[in-house]
Amino acid sequence: RAKDTGRERAVWFDEQMHVESVHRVEIENDLRHALDRDELLVEYQPAFDLRVEQICHVEALVRWRHPARGLVGPQEFIPVAEETGLIHRIGELVLARAIEQADRWAHIAELRVWVNVSPQQLVDREFPARLAAQLDRAGLPAHRLGIEVTESALAGCSWAGEVLERIHDLGVAIAIDDFGTGYSSLARLSEFPVDVIKVDKSFVHDLGTARGEALVAGIVTLARAIEAHVIAEGVETLPQLTALSALGVDSASGYLLARPSAPEHLPMTLPAEASFRWRTGLHPTVAR
Ligand code: C2E
Ligand code: MG
Ligand code: MG
Ligand code: MG
Repeated sequence: RAKDTGRERAVWFDEQMHVESVHRVEIENDLRHALDRDELLVEYQPAFDLRVEQICHVEALVRWRHPARGLVGPQEFIPVAEETGLIHRIGELVLARAIEQADRWAHIAELRVWVNVSPQQLVDREFPARLAAQLDRAGLPAHRLGIEVTESALAGCSWAGEVLERIHDLGVAIAIDDFGTGYSSLARLSEFPVDVIKVDKSFVHDLGTARGEALVAGIVTLARAIEAHVIAEGVETLPQLTALSALGVDSASGYLLARPSAPEHLPMTLPAEASFRWRTGLHPTVAR
């Protein structure tokens, strides 16, 4: 039997690869039209400051309303967009939408809208100038916008630092997304103008183990050293939230607090059942 398993697996693997490549080609073809047919939309997920328990960050997340497949998530089409170069048009679209939306939220004190930016966008030396023009046209103060980049985006290109520096000089904030999951040397990190470190959800999900807590504590210490704020993402349980605030994390987002949604559904405060008073049993309506 053991002898067959290898071949069976090889056949299965072949079929799987075939299905995947067909799927990919379809996605690729459809994606070219998605922009013209206006099928892309942007959802927004809030992060809350854990001390004042108010909204302080909102992340823009792109989705694709595919005519046959329904709502397709970015993990399925962003890699294809990156391979085909369509990421530039998609990136511009998301930025334009997010800037418009940030302008509509300009009455909310301290609120900043964050946009994920691909490595390809970051290696484009014209990117900062176009961003400046977009902000100008919208009349949005630059500090209302932030961009999220991954460690690998920084590692892959020797002038990414320069590009980031120019974006930062505009007043746009910079976050390192999925921190701790990629390659990053501390020396390299300190070369970049980093305002925020986003703790990846894999670390948040490890909280409750000694190792998980030590890792998040280490990230917080590192962030303090470079004077960056810390946002934890992927918070799904109250114990995770409690552990994060005990560890000194500044802000948090995740399904426990709010799912990504259309902009008109953005909640302004932490849900009552996640508030500190509730978590610590001080909330008057907690039955004990
Ligand atoms: P990301 O930037 O790290 O975004 C966080 C992802 O975690 C989002 O997935 C969000 O919906 C999901 N999430 C939020 N809270 C929770 C939670 O409590 N539990 C779990 N399990 N997941 C949670 P989404 O929207 O599928 O996006 C996936 C990735 O796609 C993003 O990861 C980002 O890297 C990329 N992406 C999204 N929008 C854009 C975009 O406009 N441009 C580019 N270049 N990449 C984008
Ligand atoms: Mg992000
Ligand atoms: Mg990411
Ligand atoms: Mg992330």
